[in-house]
Amino acid sequence: MNNSVKTALIIGGGMAGMEAASKIGSAGYNAILLEKEDHLGGIMKQLYGSFPRWDNPQELVGQKVKIVEENPNVTVKINTTVKSVQKKDESFLVELSSNEQVEIDAVVLATGFGFFDTSEYGEYGHGSFDNVYTALEFEGKLKEMESWDKKDLPQVVAFFKCVGSRDRSKGYPYCSKICCMFTAKEAGLMKDINPDAKCFVFYMDYRAAGKEYEEFVRSVIEDKHVRYVRGRPAKVLPENGKLMIRAEDTLMGVPVEVAADMIVLANAMIPSEATKELAQLFGAKTDQYGFIDYIPGHPTQTGDRVFFAGGCGFPVESLGAQYQGAAAAADVIALLNQD
Ligand SMILES: Cc1cc2nc3c(=O)[nH]c(=O)nc-3n(C[C@H](O)[C@H](O)[C@H](O)COP(=O)(O)OP(=O)(O)OC[C@H]3O[C@@H](n4cnc5c(N)ncnc54)[C@H](O)[C@@H]3O)c2cc1C
Ligand code: SF4
Repeated sequence: MNNSVKTALIIGGGMAGMEAASKIGSAGYNAILLEKEDHLGGIMKQLYGSFPRWDNPQELVGQKVKIVEENPNVTVKINTTVKSVQKKDESFLVELSSNEQVEIDAVVLATGFGFFDTSEYGEYGHGSFDNVYTALEFEGKLKEMESWDKKDLPQVVAFFKCVGSRDRSKGYPYCSKICCMFTAKEAGLMKDINPDAKCFVFYMDYRAAGKEYEEFVRSVIEDKHVRYVRGRPAKVLPENGKLMIRAEDTLMGVPVEVAADMIVLANAMIPSEATKELAQLFGAKTDQYGFIDYIPGHPTQTGDRVFFAGGCGFPVESLGAQYQGAAAAADVIALLNQD
């Protein structure tokens, strides 16, 4: 770290934070990248496959980590969070959980999103029945299944979309934006591992607005033979070793029963508690849910010398998180150039 140049603190070492830190470092400023876990990569590091190009997420994360680690102006601090913040005129004094104190000239919040608590949908049995997973848990399961005996692989897997999202009664009336895509991906990956498996996706709508997105979902339906059923399952009940799903196919107007071996819930993405706490410490603006909000006319800025990128602002796919990280870095660099 060069003490004669300005310093930015980037909180969160996922795709957004890594992008911001490496760009700020490349502009010649000090970038301190804080990560609470013992590794960089965020959620992408936990994924088995990725939309919209079936890239290997471990490779995507690995490339980004390499860029960060090779940048001499970026200091990575893993297992570290923020303890307290004191605002000075044009800077902040930040105490870290490692008990170090750093003086910084700008901050980028990049802490990602949190997840809706599935116990609010007790009727789907997550946490009480075996073999009901959240979409993120299922990514780990797919990895495990690679080494399973063929006879042990699930034969029928059902995916439920919009679990918590678009549900006013649960307090999250918005669409979480990326779950249509990762549900299609997970169903497609399941078919790759076990081409004999029957995969059903229960949906209310499907939203695939993005470059190559519609084609991606179409290929999962047409080439991988995943069946989309329009309707919201009412309830799941364990019966004879299976998970019995009852729903109505609202397009056909007929009741549907599926006896599944596994169920995967696309639970809503919501603001994390850590994001809300950091927003308070740095005086960042938040919206009615607790996501970081922008200052009108300044899409990456949320407070005085406070910027943000990625899922802490709203659910976003990996590429979008990186674009936002780069945009936040550009604004931080412009600010530090002016100082
Ligand atoms: C099930 C699932 C499947 C997905 N599949 C895909 C896909 O196939 N393709 C795709 O493009 N996108 C996919 N996504 C979306 C992708 O995960 C996000 O776009 C990406 O993770 C956003 O990056 P981020 O940096 O904003 O947040 P994150 O990846 O969540 O990173 C945030 C980082 O901040 C750290 N952090 C949090 N709080 C603190 C704190 N207080 N102090 C220090 N560090 C902190 C976290 O530990 C984490 O490392 C998927 C998401 C889910 C949930
Ligand atoms: S992205 Fe799709 S699954 Fe997710 S909330 Fe929106 S419509 Fe539902």
